[in-house]
Amino acid sequence: MDVVGGSVGSVGSDVSDESSESNAVDGTAVAAGSAMTADGGRTEGDDRRTNAGDGRRVAVVGAGAVGVTAARDLAAGGAAVTVFDRGAIGSGSSGRAAGVLYDAYAGDVDAAIGDRALERFRERSGEGGFEFVECPYVFLAREGDEKRARAIEEGVERMRRHGRDVSLLSPDELGGRFPLRVDDVAVAAVAANAGWTDPASYASMMADRAAAAGAKFRTGRAVDLRIDPPGIVVDGEAEAFDAVVVAAGAHTKRIFERAAVRIPLKPYRVQALTSGVEYGGPMCHDATAGMYLRPHPTGLLAGDGTEPVEADPDEWNRDADDWFVDGIRDGVRERVGRELRVERAWAGLCTATPDGNPLLGELRPGIHVAAGWQGHGFMRAPATGEAIAAAVLGDRSRAPPGAFDPTRFDGTERFEIAEGMTIE
Ligand SMILES: Cc1cc2nc3c(=O)[nH]c(=O)nc-3n(C[C@H](O)[C@H](O)[C@H](O)COP(=O)(O)OP(=O)(O)OC[C@H]3O[C@@H](n4cnc5c(N)ncnc54)[C@H](O)[C@@H]3O)c2cc1C
Repeated sequence: MDVVGGSVGSVGSDVSDESSESNAVDGTAVAAGSAMTADGGRTEGDDRRTNAGDGRRVAVVGAGAVGVTAARDLAAGGAAVTVFDRGAIGSGSSGRAAGVLYDAYAGDVDAAIGDRALERFRERSGEGGFEFVECPYVFLAREGDEKRARAIEEGVERMRRHGRDVSLLSPDELGGRFPLRVDDVAVAAVAANAGWTDPASYASMMADRAAAAGAKFRTGRAVDLRIDPPGIVVDGEAEAFDAVVVAAGAHTKRIFERAAVRIPLKPYRVQALTSGVEYGGPMCHDATAGMYLRPHPTGLLAGDGTEPVEADPDEWNRDADDWFVDGIRDGVRERVGRELRVERAWAGLCTATPDGNPLLGELRPGIHVAAGWQGHGFMRAPATGEAIAAAVLGDRSRAPPGAFDPTRFDGTERFEIAEGMTIE
């Protein structure tokens, strides 16, 4: 069970024909190996390099939240990192995400990943334009929706067993604590360890940190993968690396396909919008309505709008559908008692796997994959990026959990796309 949200601050620019290479993502020269950060020369222990990577050449394909986190940790761990992106930093799903962050996971592995991710978000808050805004996360089921009501009660029990600060609230308690309409609420819960952010600001801040630790960025060119020996292919030219991390979001399956490796991963559309409606309440996932909302600098951000159909990552509708906007209009009226004024509405892609767990780890010798987040990729990026970097560096203390091992599938699996935010 779990829930997500959706936002967009500054989305990276679309794919450009210009390629660029720099180890300073903001155009400021930063010496490789320097502990200087890119935002004014502050020295941070966390950005100091260790030598675990021992100069190993590592390519990271994808400068989304996961790729830039992995790049930062790899470079800080002593690897010689080059990040490739077909577009700009954060121009994939990370730049379209809602930025809803929480640790309310019922599974032990997920709870640990969620907890670690929030810890790292908080550590970075205030750096380079990135802000983690503390905000409780409410999830609820409406009267008549017994299935989800039961799932919330059982899920909260399991979350608490895994040490999550989550509690059930009666409708009266919910209405007493938060400015939400509660007359139709059957069961609600609140997770205290939660907050929101502008996802694009995280990608940009972490890319700066990666550059400060010595990573190079080559953006504006789509690359292909070479499996054996590990490497990437840019403009028809192969470049060898000791290891490659493919964190290419919705394109990950296609990149592997072109290298004759099958992985079970399906991109699908989800949607979000912002509205000028004033909202100072908690983040709230109305599981029955299939909608979440959170405060936003201009008022309110709401989303979900899952279309559980495999999307073509090169050709999909980036605009929100009318049915989605209409559903949010009703949901906001019912939950917040306000009329929606849409400022901006958009769609983006998430990725599904057969069992809902990510593909995170080494798939072939030297070839690592980090994808399949089922709608929860941004909020877990600080931990999953760290885990894939640890796997490359041979640091078992932070390596990905066995449940995420990508070799658990052979790539031929048939499966339906399950909504990431489903509570059942
Ligand atoms: C509307 C919406 C709302 C969402 N809300 C949330 C939320 O609130 N919380 C949450 O946790 N998650 C949310 N998500 C999901 C989240 O956006 C993703 O799970 C997460 O951003 C994935 O990050 P990533 O780094 O794996 O992939 P991406 O951010 O997609 O990065 C992949 C990068 O790879 C690059 N790339 C692709 N192919 C190539 C190639 N051949 N060569 C070079 N580069 C390539 C792309 O340009 C891209 O920059 C939301 C998603 C959407 C669309």
